[in-house]
Amino acid sequence: MPHEEAAAGLDRVDQRYTRGRRALVEVLAGADRPLTVPEILAASGSAVPQSSAYRSLTVLIDAGVVRRVTGTDDMGRFELAEHLRGHHHHLHCVSCGTVADVQAVPRLERALAAAAELAAEETGFAVMEHRIDLVGHCSGCR
Ligand SMILES: [Zn+2]
Ligand SMILES: [Zn+2]
Repeated sequence: MPHEEAAAGLDRVDQRYTRGRRALVEVLAGADRPLTVPEILAASGSAVPQSSAYRSLTVLIDAGVVRRVTGTDDMGRFELAEHLRGHHHHLHCVSCGTVADVQAVPRLERALAAAAELAAEETGFAVMEHRIDLVGHCSGCR
């Protein structure tokens, strides 16, 4: 569990690592894909108070602990920040809206690093990271 990193992140923005925020981080750490707020609440039992879920997520995002994932629907989804979760990409289903994690493969990562170098040469833009969203139909919706 990335509790130490989460506590340190919150400390940097002068926020406390409350029991509710801890429970939230635990739910996200145990998930294999980005979760919506209703999914987080359902998975936490009653450990994450509904009244403070959105506020806690905002605080955790400010602290660099949680990242918001934009999907193909209006639902916000949340996952642990990349330095806690590890590098991966997302599969977005346009039918049911599910966002699934997919592992980054070395061959693709190398190609993207080369693309980043090219962008730097041609435009002077310094790439820090990349995000890949593959959009389509999940196996359940096909
Ligand atoms: Zn689907
Ligand atoms: Zn990648």
